Amino acid sequence: MITIRTVADLRVELAPRRQQGHSIALVPTMGAFHDGHLSLMRAARQQTDVVVVSLFVNPAQFRPGEDLAAYPRNEAGDAAQAAAQGVDILFAPAAEEVYPPDFHTEVRVGGRPAPLEGAAPGPEHFDGVTTVVTKLFNMVGPDVAFFGQKDAQQAAVIRKLVRDLDMPVRIEVRPTIREPDGLAMSSRNAYLDGVDRERAAALSRALRAAEAAAAGGERDAAAIAAQARAALSEDGVEPEYLELVSTDTLAPVQEVGESDVLVAVAARVGPARLIDNTIIHANGRQ
Ligand code: AMP
Repeated sequence: MITIRTVADLRVELAPRRQQGHSIALVPTMGAFHDGHLSLMRAARQQTDVVVVSLFVNPAQFRPGEDLAAYPRNEAGDAAQAAAQGVDILFAPAAEEVYPPDFHTEVRVGGRPAPLEGAAPGPEHFDGVTTVVTKLFNMVGPDVAFFGQKDAQQAAVIRKLVRDLDMPVRIEVRPTIREPDGLAMSSRNAYLDGVDRERAAALSRALRAAEAAAAGGERDAAAIAAQARAALSEDGVEPEYLELVSTDTLAPVQEVGESDVLVAVAARVGPARLIDNTIIHANGRQ
């Protein structure tokens, strides 16, 4: 595996591979790798000839109040883990390479009512995501890009970005990888210790409670949400939101059963803001 820092060097490396007809995958990340990241790399390795992993802690997508400087960073450890997955190129540009001083353009996906992660604070969060993902797609020119279901709304926004702007890239969304107690893996879990780490599993317990309610025949979204909230409050966790929305439009739903429904939750646990989700499939489909 080689580590590349500049767009110019990336082009030099990838152009001949593309000319030879090799397929290229991109796995965009902010580093501090865990098994969730590694599962995306493994899927990319299985499907394409050249696997590029980008490692860029994107200042533009940080929320007010989250400390960019405190975000976990471990490039040497990340490089070793990526190499072990058979990644070909680790693209780790400096902030100035991505956002030079004369950078002024923003890519915003419009039209979508913005509940969940798009609610206060910060629809700008997704503008930061869509701008950097557009840049990474233009830098790498991937045939396929891999994202995690853990960030379900991000995946939906990126699918819309690609559709609306006719970007020639296939988006593949992979399942959420979890710790043994159910906690969705996240680089931000590094902020958790002791009691907070134990309480953090409440998010996935709440999602399991929602699944169980639906499996038991409950169709009313408010009743399912209430059972999930009850599971959260057993651990003293107050959700920022816990909502049942359409997997298609992300608009709130009143009932489950007719189409797939995303149950999405965000909560602050100690110093960490955590998100998680599950899908309740239409008519009990698995
Ligand atoms: P991040 O480094 O947090 O920006 O995440 C990089 C990619 O990994 C994104 O597409 C995330 O959705 C994905 N990801 C993060 N956590 C998980 C997880 N637990 N399971 C699967 N994918 C994940």
